[in-house]
Amino acid sequence: MSTVFDISSLARKNVRELVPYMSARRLGGNGSVWLNANEYPFAPHFQLSEQTLNRYPECQPAAVIQRYADYSGLQPEQVLVSRGADESIELLIRVFCESGTDAVMFCPPTYGMYSVSAETFGIEQKKILVGPDWQPNVTAIENNLDRVKLLYICSPNNPTGNLTDPTALRQILELTRNRAIVAIDEAYIEFSPQNTTMHWMKEYPHLVILRTLSKAFALAGLRCGFTLASADIIALMLKVIAPYPLATPVADIAAQALTATGIRAMQERVAEIKANRAYLQTALDKLILVEKVFPSETNYILVRFTNAELVFRALWDQGIILRDQRKQPGLEKCLRITVGSRNECEQLINAIAALCEHTQQVQETENP
Ligand SMILES: *Cc1c(COP(=O)(O)O)cnc(C)c1O
Repeated sequence: MSTVFDISSLARKNVRELVPYMSARRLGGNGSVWLNANEYPFAPHFQLSEQTLNRYPECQPAAVIQRYADYSGLQPEQVLVSRGADESIELLIRVFCESGTDAVMFCPPTYGMYSVSAETFGIEQKKILVGPDWQPNVTAIENNLDRVKLLYICSPNNPTGNLTDPTALRQILELTRNRAIVAIDEAYIEFSPQNTTMHWMKEYPHLVILRTLSKAFALAGLRCGFTLASADIIALMLKVIAPYPLATPVADIAAQALTATGIRAMQERVAEIKANRAYLQTALDKLILVEKVFPSETNYILVRFTNAELVFRALWDQGIILRDQRKQPGLEKCLRITVGSRNECEQLINAIAALCEHTQQVQETENP
């Protein structure tokens, strides 16, 4: 008689206990209006120019690196390209953090992958909640820096939409000098380009900046991201990256997206999304189910509702898929809404307005 062997008992303990990142795609839904993953609403068109699929790709495709360096005003040695910014989040842990000894620090509510990557590698996590203004608590950060090798600061922050105060950022960079890496996640910086901290790299050799083509460049499906850092940090990351992190078609399209024409198209999309964001903010502010519309420097808006469960469910049932944030600390009653096309914004507003009207009618019948 054979007993059933539980193969998962062979897995590492932290992997057995790991709760994987619930991406918008994994969460599913039967949507026609997808406003849950901060994607651009339309697909840009590209044609493959290379026919060399019999060959392995370059590890760091020269054209992609050179064009991103030009776009950001850096030297090619200061740029690393990877399978999305998500891979870069993980590479930093693999380079800098020893399991059982070192810790990472970040400031919830924030992007979920810092925690998932730390957990996968068995690295201690120090979570220092942001203050009521959603700015980092610099005193608490200072008091908890023991063992911390790597800090992730997301600015503009996902899901709150705000920028981190530059004074606080400088304080954090001073506190961590010669003892930890500070990775500023600028996944949304193209929506607020004047606020990049890229120019601080000369002053702070421990500053790392994460970028992506997934948001303003409208290429979430391409899986292409960048790390900007000192040549020394980039060299360390190149020691641990996979030999072929980017497929040839990915490098081909990324290089096209970073031409002058590609960058101009990106800037036009940013202007379009910002106009739709202003429309959404004004329209949401007028709805009685809306308690607060938080300001945003990004392509999404965080909204606190009087009844977030009702709004989330009702819209889900109509095929309008939002991102539920209610489990994040300080975000009870909050949903995150991606700024889509104007038509999608209008559908969203109409659906919530109808729900407001319905709720009001129910209240009037119950309390005449
Ligand atoms: C979307 C996002 C990423 C991931 O970018 P990819 O390049 O798609 O892996 C990283 N950080 C933040 C804050 C994001 O919102």
